[in-house]
Amino acid sequence: MEGNGKSLVMVYTGNGKGKTTAALGLALRQIGWGRRVLFLQFMKGKGSVYGERIAAEKYLPLLEIEQWGREEFVDLSSPEPVDRELAQKALKKAAEALESGRYGLVVLDEICVAMACGLVSADQVKDLLSRVAGGTDLALTGRYCPEDIMDLADMVSEVREVKHHYGKGIPAREGIEF
Ligand code: ATP
Ligand code: MG
Repeated sequence: MEGNGKSLVMVYTGNGKGKTTAALGLALRQIGWGRRVLFLQFMKGKGSVYGERIAAEKYLPLLEIEQWGREEFVDLSSPEPVDRELAQKALKKAAEALESGRYGLVVLDEICVAMACGLVSADQVKDLLSRVAGGTDLALTGRYCPEDIMDLADMVSEVREVKHHYGKGIPAREGIEF
């Protein structure tokens, strides 16, 4: 695949809604230009149905979405060993993808949360960033992005909650939350 100049490392963090969907927006842009996208979801289970996964399967052969978590929510203060194993496997997959040069964009969705609760270390992610091949951009999402990762990134956007419809008791909705 033809290179696309210097690789960019982009971070979407903060407590407001829109980080994962921003990364999906980037994915759509890349696909429009004929580039392949690998979207790795940390701490999300294969069983949960998300609109983006259905869209990828039905309409977007250039988008590969993989879930690398258990079905249950991870207890951020005391994760299970299996949570760590799955996150480590996802990281390995990311390293291989970055070295392959096969993708225009690799997204590590919720990896900032995985770092924050110790499933992967910030040093491991730094090592990954040092291996990004020219032509592959990288996007990291999730609350609590560590400062030193933000320092290394080329672009950081912090999504701040002003309000969220959950506050009004409106439940998670198809096409909006999943
Ligand atoms: P989205 O996937 O909609 O782009 P996100 O990636 O920014 O959201 P996460 O921190 O990954 O948000 O949280 C995932 C879920 O939590 C989403 O379904 C979202 O609606 C919900 N959520 C996000 N921000 C808030 C908030 N400030 N208050 C309550 N719920 C939130
Ligand atoms: Mg998210």
